Amino acid sequence: MIIDNKAVVSIHYTLTDDQGTQIDSSAGQEPLAYLHGAGNIIPGLENALTGKSEGDSLQVVVQPEEGYGLVTDALIQTVPREAFEADDITPGMQFQAQDDQGHVQQIVVREVSDEGVTIDGNHPLAGKVLYFDIEITEVREATPEELDHGHVHHEGHSH
Ligand code: ZN
Repeated sequence: MIIDNKAVVSIHYTLTDDQGTQIDSSAGQEPLAYLHGAGNIIPGLENALTGKSEGDSLQVVVQPEEGYGLVTDALIQTVPREAFEADDITPGMQFQAQDDQGHVQQIVVREVSDEGVTIDGNHPLAGKVLYFDIEITEVREATPEELDHGHVHHEGHSH
């Protein structure tokens, strides 16, 4: 079966950055299964997989625009130290924050100074060129229920 919308695709992947440093990998775990055409994965990867089939291997370079987006300066801001309950705030710490609309957002502490704490709400991979090594392990047709929900239902798992 050729990968197109309405296919459930299982892949093994290794993701590295432009320095060759591994960021993520499915090695040693179950393959990642996703519903093609439903926006489950980043557009650059989804586009590259269209038309491929089970058993194919491919290398994909994804630009930020087709990945996790560009870095948005507006998401980097300095807030008063008192905004944090924790006593010990250090660069690299991660928090969950909620915006006005109630969306949960992951933020990272970039800098701590006398002026306050600089936090960054950009996705950790925003602005990065991503290098994927992909092996397609399975392609099957999605069930009507999966299409309805817009995601994959794993065997023996319902919700
Ligand atoms: Zn579902």
